[in-house]
Amino acid sequence: MNETTSSGMSGPNAPMGKVWLVGAGPGDPDLLTLRAARLIMSARLVVHDGLVDPRILAMAPAGARLISVAKRRSRHSMPQDDINALLVREALAGGDVLRLKGGDPFIFGRGGEEAEACIAAGVPVEVVPGISAAVGAGAAALLPLTHRDAASVVSFVSGQCKGLTDQNWAGLAGIGRTLVIYMGLATAAQIAEKLIADGLSPETPLAVVENATRPDMRVLRSPLAALADLVERERVQSPALIIIGAVTARAPSELARVALEAIK
Ligand code: SAH
Repeated sequence: MNETTSSGMSGPNAPMGKVWLVGAGPGDPDLLTLRAARLIMSARLVVHDGLVDPRILAMAPAGARLISVAKRRSRHSMPQDDINALLVREALAGGDVLRLKGGDPFIFGRGGEEAEACIAAGVPVEVVPGISAAVGAGAAALLPLTHRDAASVVSFVSGQCKGLTDQNWAGLAGIGRTLVIYMGLATAAQIAEKLIADGLSPETPLAVVENATRPDMRVLRSPLAALADLVERERVQSPALIIIGAVTARAPSELARVALEAIK
């Protein structure tokens, strides 16, 4: 596969650029794939989310154009249709576009919508996977998402979806299961209520991992019933994950502290 040159043609002879949907991982630049790092270091146009770590953006060449379409909650962000149109327009104009996203492009990253828009417009598109926040957080906090003694199922859900209370999460959390909630801070109280109403014990252990893999990472623990209090009392900020299940009660606090020191 050719990673540097444009491919495809638009109109009679016009060269067409390619859209690269690239996962930037959870923060630490060392967690980029080699392919992502190579693409960033040779990019001429980078279209990125608010979640992409500034140290990663700094890897782009000095002359590269960086466009932020910030997606962090409650900040201004470009509507998805406009992002799709921007990617397609730039590629049709002949340049390769590096669409850089936090974590993995296909895990709550709207990468599917962007790939579809490119395909519909006849623009070549390729996806480079990234380490999703759940995987990065598990490693950085020494918190295995599965463990033979504690969980053989792991689920990723979004806490920010439309009609949260109508979502059927029954069976995703509980004995032998780990539930990882992305974008769940703003709805933490409803999430805890919903899971308890579904039959989960209010004592179920959980961890909130804020800024996973970054120097300011925090790992906070509480029982499920105290989730909203924890988020409020500790003023937990985005990005953060809520990880629910017995695996979060395993990592002794000393191990978690060592893990934290290791990324500083
Ligand atoms: N595509 C991304 C997820 C985008 S949704 C991925 O695969 O990771 C954005 C949410 O991801 C945030 O609200 C937060 O819940 C989670 N997230 C992303 N980076 C994170 C980090 N470094 N630490 C904790 N949570 C993170």
